[in-house]
Amino acid sequence: MAKQIQAIRGMNDCLPEQTPVWQMVEATLRRVVSSYGYSEIRMPVVEMTHLFQRAIGEVTDVVEKEMYTFNDRNGDSLTLRPEGTAGCVRACIEHGLVYNQERRLWYVGPMFRHERPQKGRYRQFHQFGVEVFGLTGPDIDAELIMLTARLWRELGIEQFTTLQLNTLGSSAERAAYRDALVAFLEQHKESLDEECQRRMYTNPLRVLDTKNPQVQEILTQAPVLSDYFGEETKAHFDGLKALLDAAGIAYQVNERLVRGLDYYNYTVFEWVTDSLGAQGTICGGGRYDGLVEQLGGHATPAIGFAMGLERLTLMLETLEKIRNIPAVADVYICMAGEGTLTAGLLLAEKLRNERPELRVMTHCGGGNFKKQMKRADKVEARIALILGESEVADNKVTVKFLRDQVEQQTVDVTALLPILDKLGE
Ligand code: ATP
Ligand code: MG
Repeated sequence: MAKQIQAIRGMNDCLPEQTPVWQMVEATLRRVVSSYGYSEIRMPVVEMTHLFQRAIGEVTDVVEKEMYTFNDRNGDSLTLRPEGTAGCVRACIEHGLVYNQERRLWYVGPMFRHERPQKGRYRQFHQFGVEVFGLTGPDIDAELIMLTARLWRELGIEQFTTLQLNTLGSSAERAAYRDALVAFLEQHKESLDEECQRRMYTNPLRVLDTKNPQVQEILTQAPVLSDYFGEETKAHFDGLKALLDAAGIAYQVNERLVRGLDYYNYTVFEWVTDSLGAQGTICGGGRYDGLVEQLGGHATPAIGFAMGLERLTLMLETLEKIRNIPAVADVYICMAGEGTLTAGLLLAEKLRNERPELRVMTHCGGGNFKKQMKRADKVEARIALILGESEVADNKVTVKFLRDQVEQQTVDVTALLPILDKLGE
């Protein structure tokens, strides 16, 4: 036998047993965003590398060490998208979608990051994201959070999620704070680890994100961003909190929450869970009022979030929140004898014409009735329709109930639909 070729580490197949969960999650997501009047946008999975460098920031985990970057045959540096916001903003500018107008958009699809694969962290993963342009908030900030809260409710996981909330202030406030933070970090330079020492000049706010307990301890003494906030930032944040209070959405203000990407300002939030172990963030987002202009568009306020669908499906599985996964078929057609194959295939087509929602599977590949009935059982059909030579000659069909205590009966083909309609009751 030839040597097997395996999938790339950290890139998963979604097998037939798993797709129903994904379909259920995706259907819920689509239903919820559409109930808020959001429109879908689809972007390419590959973009020019410098789009991500410029949008996400050079000194971020994603750009520094996680991107799949390669030269194509023309020598252009391209990157498999590590997130959706940059491409979405690029597309909106390119097609004039956000100039002087509001847009409420959503997308879903694969993202790529070269990280160490582990539970809840993969190299190809899927994000569902929302981006809203042209609105300054805090009303829209609250709407996005309400939308996510509704998703958790619809998926039955609301008791297992916590909202963490913070504001990063305006870019001017952040700049003033940045200077103060750098001055503080300089005083403690010796106690910082290598990464923090490097980041304190390139992206000092990221030092606050450190997982190193020793540095975290030092940071308890660091100046806090909120001391640098002016009236506008406070009003925005208070406005958002008041709206969330009114909507009955609980939150924890977490001043350490700065988010991994550079482009955020004002509101940032994360939904976290402790039912997944280390990879506990299922959704993260925030306001990014500077990004459209930074990428060459007209200044446009914007806010968005993205959630990891692997983490979400994992959570549903862990918490056993998966609703009944439907069987593959409702009706299984079995045939044996001269002329029955054609009759069976045509009967199946007729049923699909008349009852498009009915899932009808025809037995293919021959074999005796016993084998065929086994198949019917395996796909968990409710009913087997049996066509032998005598049935076909009389234009009849034998109906065998596989899950209900009802006698098998042979009926005219014309009498079949009322029987099948009862299945749904
Ligand atoms: P983390 O801190 O877990 O690395 P992040 O801050 O890098 O997350 P974002 O860029 O905010 O993540 O992406 C939004 C969401 O996408 C995350 O909250 C998570 O649910 C999901 N996500 C991010 N990276 C991965 C990955 N490598 N595998 C699976 N899901 C991921
Ligand atoms: Mg990350």
